[in-house]
Amino acid sequence: MQSVTLLAVTKTFDAQAVRDAHAAGQRAFGENYVQEALEKMQSLADLRGSIEWHLIGPLQSNKTRVVAASFDWVHTIDRLKIAERLSAQRDAGLPPLQVCLQVNISGEASKSGVAPADVPALARSVAALPGLHLRGLMAVPEPQGDFAAQRRPHRALARLLFDLNASGLALDTLSMGMSADLEAAIAEGATLVRVGSAIFGSRARQQG
Ligand SMILES: *Cc1c(COP(=O)(O)O)cnc(C)c1O
Repeated sequence: MQSVTLLAVTKTFDAQAVRDAHAAGQRAFGENYVQEALEKMQSLADLRGSIEWHLIGPLQSNKTRVVAASFDWVHTIDRLKIAERLSAQRDAGLPPLQVCLQVNISGEASKSGVAPADVPALARSVAALPGLHLRGLMAVPEPQGDFAAQRRPHRALARLLFDLNASGLALDTLSMGMSADLEAAIAEGATLVRVGSAIFGSRARQQG
């Protein structure tokens, strides 16, 4: 079986929650909102050498510069323009920014992500950008009640990654699975699961 990286999703939780998880051995953290993440990074600057920051929320073009300077990973690339900006703005003294393409795997009209049919062309273009290292694909499937239905979109994403690798790319990351569907995602080959509430508790409670 593949090994699975746990990405601890800390949106709405404070810097102390990150510090506590880090003290317990967790290294990779996911944030959705750039501003919120930057504030936490500042209060956790002493951990910078041993912590990995992943952006898993939407990225607007006016935020690419600060994201290129502060994050290790971006999971939500769905347009070439954003990828080109991140590549150009990534400091040459830093390792390339690790990125995934976000795929609208359930075909929901309201969801961000590139359509599955457009993935191969975007992947080829992003893989050629010098400031980025394309690692794989990410998705947030439509919620499903039962296990078999949860597996289907994850299987589709895994198939897309397989096809990209068969076409000559060397991608190793399937970022799929959240608290509600992580078992189904792992069963379909997830290499990284993004888990918030199952670790830190319900976010609704935090917002009062
Ligand atoms: C919030 C979020 C998660 C974590 O969700 P949980 O249900 O709390 O595990 C994972 N991925 C993305 C893109 C998110 O926005």
